[in-house]
This record gives sequence, C-alpha cells and structure tokens, in this order.
Amino acid sequence: MDIHEYQAKELLAGFGVAVPKGGVVYTPDQAVYRAEEIGGGRWVVKAQIHSGARGKAGGIKLCTTPEEVRAAATELLGKKLVTHQTGPAGKIVHRLYVEAAVPIRRELYIGLVLDRRSERVCVVAAPEGGMEIEEIALRSPETILREVIEPAVGMQPFQARELSFGLGLSSSEMNQAVKAILGAYRAFRDLDATMVEINPLAITESGQVLALDAKMQFDDNALFRRAAVAELRDYAEEDPRDAEAAKHGLNYIALEGSIGCIVNGAGLAMATMDMITHAGGEPANFLDIGGGASPERVAAAFRLVLSDPRVRCVLVNIFAGINRCDWVAEGIIQAAKDVNVPVPIVARLAGTNVEQGRAILRDSGLSIITADTLADAAEKAVAALTNTPVARTNVREKVS
Ligand code: GDP
Ligand code: MN
Repeated sequence: MDIHEYQAKELLAGFGVAVPKGGVVYTPDQAVYRAEEIGGGRWVVKAQIHSGARGKAGGIKLCTTPEEVRAAATELLGKKLVTHQTGPAGKIVHRLYVEAAVPIRRELYIGLVLDRRSERVCVVAAPEGGMEIEEIALRSPETILREVIEPAVGMQPFQARELSFGLGLSSSEMNQAVKAILGAYRAFRDLDATMVEINPLAITESGQVLALDAKMQFDDNALFRRAAVAELRDYAEEDPRDAEAAKHGLNYIALEGSIGCIVNGAGLAMATMDMITHAGGEPANFLDIGGGASPERVAAAFRLVLSDPRVRCVLVNIFAGINRCDWVAEGIIQAAKDVNVPVPIVARLAGTNVEQGRAILRDSGLSIITADTLADAAEKAVAALTNTPVARTNVREKVS
C-alpha cells in the first residue's frame, strides 16, 4: 500500500524526522488559510498523488503571496498530472499539501528498501538528491552509499554516521542527518514498511536538515496489525476495481484481454491464463478468489469481472480441495441469478464432489458451458467469443 507525502511526513515526524511546517488542504480557501497559519512569506503548494516526479510534471508550485497560493491551488485541484510513474492515464489531484518553503543549499537522497537478495533492510544514500534514484544510478552510480542492517540488532548509530560522513556533511549537519536516518529506519521497522524514501533530504541555507519530500510503502500482509497505517489508504488513488477486489478479499489484477477468469489459487489462475493464451485467446484479468469460494465471494468475483466491458466470456476454473464442487456450483448459480451475466460462462470444476457439482450446473437450467479439463475449458471459452458481440458497452481506454 502507498500513502501520500503529507501522511508519510506526519508518520516520520513521529519518529523524530524534522520536516517543514505544513498542512493538507482540499480547497483553494483552505490553502490560503493554511499558508497564513504557517506564516513566513514563501510556501510550496504540492499536489498529493501517489507518484514521484511531480515537480517535473508541474505538480509543485513555489509561491510568495497568498494570492499565488490561491492561484496554485485553483490550478492544481482537479488537474490530471501525468508523470512517468502514473502512466499516460495520469492521476487527478484531489488533495494538496501547503508547506513552508525553505531555501535549499543541498539536496541529498535517502532511501530504505527491503533487499530481497540479502534478506535485509538496506539503507541507501546519495549526495545528489532531488532527482530519482534510477537517474542517480545511471548518472553517478559510484556515489551511491549503502548500509545493510543486521535485523537482530537493528540500525546502529555508527551506520547512520558512516552514511552521513560519506555524504560529506559537517558535524552539525551530521547530527541532524543521523537523527533523520535512524528515525526513518525505526518508522520502517515499527510500521511494517517495505519502502521509505526521503528525496530530497535538504540542507537549508541556515544549516537545518529537513525532509522535503517523503514516500512510504507498506506491506499489505501486515496492515491487519497496523490499523493507524491501514486507515491512511486513499481509495481514490487506486484502480476502483482493485479497491473493490480488496474489499472482498479477492486477489485481482486487470489485464487487456476479453476472457474474464474466476479461479481459486494463484498458481491455477496463472495456469488458466496460460491455457487461454495457448488456445488463442487473451485473459481479461488475473483473479484468485482464494480457498473459500463461498457463494458471496463467487458473486463478488462475477461482479468485478463483468465490470470490465471488454469481458465477452467468463471462465470459471475451480479446483476443490478443501472446498466442495457442489458448493462452488451452487455459488455459480447463485451468482448468475444475483448478477446479470450477459456473456457466456464456461465452468470447469475438478476435485471433491465433482460429479455432484457438474450435475448441479447441468440441472440448473442456466446455459453454462461445462468443461472437463483446463485445455477443454480454454478452448470452449475462446470459441464462445465468436458468438459474443465485440464490445458490450463503452470499452475503457486502452492503457498501453
Ligand atoms: P517530486 O518531484 O514528486 O519528487 O516532489 P518533491 O517534493 O521532491 O519536489 C521536487 C523539488 O521541488 C525538490 O527536489 C526541490 O528542489 C523543490 N522543492 C520542494 N520543496 C521545496 C521547498 O520548500 N523549497 C524549495 N526551494 N524547493 C522545494
Ligand atoms: Mn522528491
């Protein structure tokens, strides 16, 4: 899960990372109010979207009067920002962060990531921040510093000093940078983050070390025990279908094809997608409905898959191990009754109580195409496409 810059700053501030004064706003009036509350004569108005490189896309505005703050807020709110991280579809700005602008002397890069190869948290620092780490890695890879954290003891002060020394900081800057780095590490560890990035960590003209931009990502599997983090989720930033899927505990990834897939188990879902491709079709999605496959879940899965207007056939592929095919069959029938299914359904059931399951489908009176094997199901699904009109409703813009 991703969060916004202002949320990341608030979390990091709680761990002792120094940040400029600022506040989130939703309207131009609030932006002006905030700016006056913050005081000083210079502010930055920052678009809050889940993406970096907002500066280059025009999402960061430096202002010197309240009128400029109002104008910047008016321009940014509701605007679509396209950065290379958002893809061509871009992201609409719904929130802004108004912050005291500080005169910058140097911009540094600090990032904490989970390094899967060493199975450790790795703290990365570079003396030329502001630009993205990928760019630094291309331009001057030799300047990138790394400290690998031993999980049994956590990040040690000497490691933060080592990094600060490598960044060429003075002793007063070093003390502040060490505090920021150790704070970021504790936030990473205590909040089950998978990424913390402070870019830039700025050194101001007056010698203060401040986090000017912050980004955090969290482990979805740990959110159940991080309620304070979980509630920072901004559904407006996510694909509405992903959000809907998450609500029902479904594991869903939208794709570009025309055959909707409802499968239990990630491995089986992958195999199903392969078989569809092999049969000459294209899957519209990856969808793992999990082990339970209760009628409610199956219905939610149907709704989700059918919300994609490109879907012209639904392939249900269930291998019942703990589950029972007769229950799944009832779920499919329930779903087909609850949800209007305007396209052919191909169902392949295997495993426990398979005979009863097939009989239930056969006797249901619904025109469900049954298949015995996965290959058979994929072929029948592809064949069913030729009998379905090309596009059901307004087909979503293709994002490529
Ligand atoms: P990003 O483009 O999404 O990474 O957004 P950032 O928050 O990193 O802002 C981009 C750039 O704007 C920074 O690297 C700074 O150069 C500049 N910037 C951000 N905040 C301030 C500020 O308070 N003062 C000044 N002078 N520049 C700022
Ligand atoms: Mn940045």
